[in-house]
Amino acid sequence: MLSLGERVSYIKATESPLSADVGMFFGDRSLWIYDVGNNPDVSAELESIDSPKTVILSHFHPDHTGGLAKIRAERIYLSAYTRKYIGFGETVTDDIYVRDGGELHIFPLPSSHSKGALGLEVGEYAFLGDGIYTAQKGGRHFYNATLLRNMILCLKRLDAKTFLLSHDERYSLPGSEVIAGLEEIYSRRKKEEAYIDVTEY
Ligand SMILES: [Zn+2]
Repeated sequence: MLSLGERVSYIKATESPLSADVGMFFGDRSLWIYDVGNNPDVSAELESIDSPKTVILSHFHPDHTGGLAKIRAERIYLSAYTRKYIGFGETVTDDIYVRDGGELHIFPLPSSHSKGALGLEVGEYAFLGDGIYTAQKGGRHFYNATLLRNMILCLKRLDAKTFLLSHDERYSLPGSEVIAGLEEIYSRRKKEEAYIDVTEY
């Protein structure tokens, strides 16, 4: 477990097995877990923490959700789309604010990477999972231009200054840097095209 701040930690992603970074916020009542990964060692580490647990799933991909069965969570927040895969949990359709040793803000994140992405903002940190990444098809990487624009607007409304990006070697990045990069990509869209291909980028 790696510490980012007083109450904020994470467990690093692994490549084999493919398992996403697991974000954690230690609230007064609950340990908030943003994605559970898909690695038995990570599940065991989470279960060894003696605290009631609340899970938020960033999106439905197995490297973010696969370990769920091994976690005893009191509550699970997910999008309606993710719920189709998981089968249970509390559906998030709009911003949710919870006080638990800090203010937690769960929000739908418009994303090209997957339908039904959720972010978690707490203090200066915003956990974004894979939300800012591209869609992939036939070896091409691309953004849906409308979703990209809406995502940039969503990210700009956050108070968090640090964005936490799953699978990224740095994991913790200045939000301004991330937004500038996305705006640069958006600026390259062609008027008549719905998608921005960044395969060569
Ligand atoms: Zn993903």
